[in-house]
Amino acid sequence: MAAVEEYESILRHYFADSPPCFDLVFLGFGVDGHTASLFSDDSKWNETQQWVSGVQKSTEDFPRMTLTLPLLNQTKMALFLVAGNKKADALQRALKPIGGKAMLPANQIRPSSGQLNWFVDAFAFPSQDDTRYIEIASSILAADFAHLADQVDEVTRSGAHRLHVDVMDGHFVPNLSIGTPIIRSLRKVTDLMLDTHLMITDPDSFLETFAECGSDSLIVHLEGNHNLHRTVQKIRNLGKQVGVVINPATPACALEEILEDLDQVLVMTVDPGFGHQTFIPSTLPKIRLVRSIIERINPLCELAVDGGING
Ligand code: ZN
Repeated sequence: MAAVEEYESILRHYFADSPPCFDLVFLGFGVDGHTASLFSDDSKWNETQQWVSGVQKSTEDFPRMTLTLPLLNQTKMALFLVAGNKKADALQRALKPIGGKAMLPANQIRPSSGQLNWFVDAFAFPSQDDTRYIEIASSILAADFAHLADQVDEVTRSGAHRLHVDVMDGHFVPNLSIGTPIIRSLRKVTDLMLDTHLMITDPDSFLETFAECGSDSLIVHLEGNHNLHRTVQKIRNLGKQVGVVINPATPACALEEILEDLDQVLVMTVDPGFGHQTFIPSTLPKIRLVRSIIERINPLCELAVDGGING
């Protein structure tokens, strides 16, 4: 973009080619953790030399131009303003970077003189005992695949907080569903968090592929996984959020030893393998039990339910 080069040269001329020190850099925060139009899926977001960069998102029909980290970090104070429950997931990731790594552009805002402030509302950062805070993850399994982008748009406008993608391999569960091409396509049309629920034998062999195609979290089954700790660490090392799912017949206590390493526990409320099944009522006491174990071992871990959930 010619405008980027022009703005860069204007700034460099004005500041005599030496970055200024701003008093305040005031920033927003997107549902995907972007800030100042710096997006983690754009190769220029961690630019170290240029002061200005341009970005054209495939989901937008307008170009963006922004200052880059070398300039934004030259400030006495940086201040984020974050509001709304759609930001809650990304905010957790920003405040608690996975594996100690800075995964989001917002994590790279580090003022040269050290003052970084977050102003967040109660929806973006609900207290852990706020039982009113519930997120809806819309299942892609229920979509009309011939009109997937429209369906994603519809659930987004209806208030869905994230998308849940059920991957079935015909071995781990007696059904086949979708794979990486669909997730890749979804990634192009949504900024919502993409949870990928892997109902597959030997998930370790496919973790990199599912991470690379755009999943934000990878959820693996406790059942049949003989090296769950290794699988969980592998997902962590890929920079993704980690979930473990248990089937209706698996006891809640089976989670205790792995819970400390998880971002999400998913309790199946139907036997996995098919959509449109009926909720199994006997899973209700287990959900309560899982909640109490989470509170005791890892209160930041999310609790999710999957199967036959109706409004
Ligand atoms: Zn699922």
